Amino acid sequence: MVERKKWSENFSEWFNEVIEEAGILDKRYPVKGMNVWLPYGLKIMKNIEKFIHEEMERTGHQEVLFPALIPETEFQKEAEHIAGFEGEVFWVTHAGHEPLDVRLVLRPTSETAMYSMFALWIRSHADLPFKVYQIVNVYRYETKHTRPLIRVREISRFFEAHTAHVDFEDAERQIREDLDIFDNLMKKLAIAYVISKRPEWDKFPGAYYSLGAEVVMPDGRTLQIGTMHNYKQNFAKAYNILYEKEDGTHDYVHQTTFGMSERLLAAVIAIHGDDRGMVLPPTIAPIQVVIVPIPKKGSEEEVYSYAKEIEEELKLAGIRVHLDLRDKRPGWKFYDWELKGVPVRIEVGPRDATEKTVVLARRDKLEKITVSREELVDKIRELFDDIMKYLYERAKEWLESHIKRVDTIEEAKELFNDRRGIVEIPWCGEEECGLRMEEELEAKMLGIPYPDESAKVEGKKCPVCGREAKFIARFARTY
Ligand code: ZN
Repeated sequence: MVERKKWSENFSEWFNEVIEEAGILDKRYPVKGMNVWLPYGLKIMKNIEKFIHEEMERTGHQEVLFPALIPETEFQKEAEHIAGFEGEVFWVTHAGHEPLDVRLVLRPTSETAMYSMFALWIRSHADLPFKVYQIVNVYRYETKHTRPLIRVREISRFFEAHTAHVDFEDAERQIREDLDIFDNLMKKLAIAYVISKRPEWDKFPGAYYSLGAEVVMPDGRTLQIGTMHNYKQNFAKAYNILYEKEDGTHDYVHQTTFGMSERLLAAVIAIHGDDRGMVLPPTIAPIQVVIVPIPKKGSEEEVYSYAKEIEEELKLAGIRVHLDLRDKRPGWKFYDWELKGVPVRIEVGPRDATEKTVVLARRDKLEKITVSREELVDKIRELFDDIMKYLYERAKEWLESHIKRVDTIEEAKELFNDRRGIVEIPWCGEEECGLRMEEELEAKMLGIPYPDESAKVEGKKCPVCGREAKFIARFARTY
């Protein structure tokens, strides 16, 4: 079996080591919470984003690119929004030696950058639905402990989709589409997740309601990796985004947003990893197959030319392959590629060259099989499918074994002391009781299961006030 001891018992240290040693980020950049993306890490992230672009294309979103600076006057138009972000924005106050007349905010998210332009662009019902997105860097002055990919002051790969609609129903359709997009993406990443509707006190500043997608990390804390918000007309009223209806009257648009970030990569690294390092799903691995030649004295030429033949064949088949010709021992190379999470390793020695066979080693289960040269491409494709299945099944099992339903605060406390994960508790729906549970459990309420908001709670009581429960509320210690 694959060892996952360090991975689960000392996740924080494991995560930092892997990020550094596998060449994802360099954390030594001299601004706290801002990291340098290294080529290998960036390639994986871009492969994830390829699927995002495909999904955006499929669903009729157009890509845009807005400036990073927002005038204070625009930033302040939506009261709840500014209250929510004010404490964590970076300000540009000077240009050269001169103080600016209007200070500028380095975008923490782009509602306030985009919506004055939406007001100019959207004129009539014929312009709706209006769907755009961008992937940009955003800045938030995080005061909590920063952590690469997870809690940073510069989110380098922030995806944000913004839409406008004729009415609430159409905005709701958009939220359903977002959930569908998200699910497709998670399948490509082999990640299992849950969706919760956030409580009133924890929704996005300015939103009518917010949904959050969570995964359970190896240490039992949850990580939010996606959010969807229905704004109703809150921002449209603040930014005067009006459209002309078919009957000639005017109304404010309904808006939604959908956000993700490099936390997706954090989830991939964390959820699929083991004690040897990363395990990348073949869908996003920059190198899907690495070939390590194992020549013996006198057989070098034969082995290398056999390895090159295989490399050519796999390239032609459209597989992302790399032939490792570094002047290092094979054992060293195995260790290095295992750390980097390459899904399949091919080992070729003199015997393989003579007998026209190939040894395939899969990264997820650390198992080896020998196949004949003719069936190589088919076998690799089969292996990719099998690895995706295995990673997803393992992720799903991990998630499900970390969601527990209890009736009392005491039981919940015990779970948090022991295995953590997500704890579900009956709840009357009152804010006071929800906040009280957060305090007692030293955990956050993620919200109620979505879309089945009224999940079976008949006969259950809210453990705080004793009244009849209306919802199941999910709690977790979060990143
Ligand atoms: Zn209650």
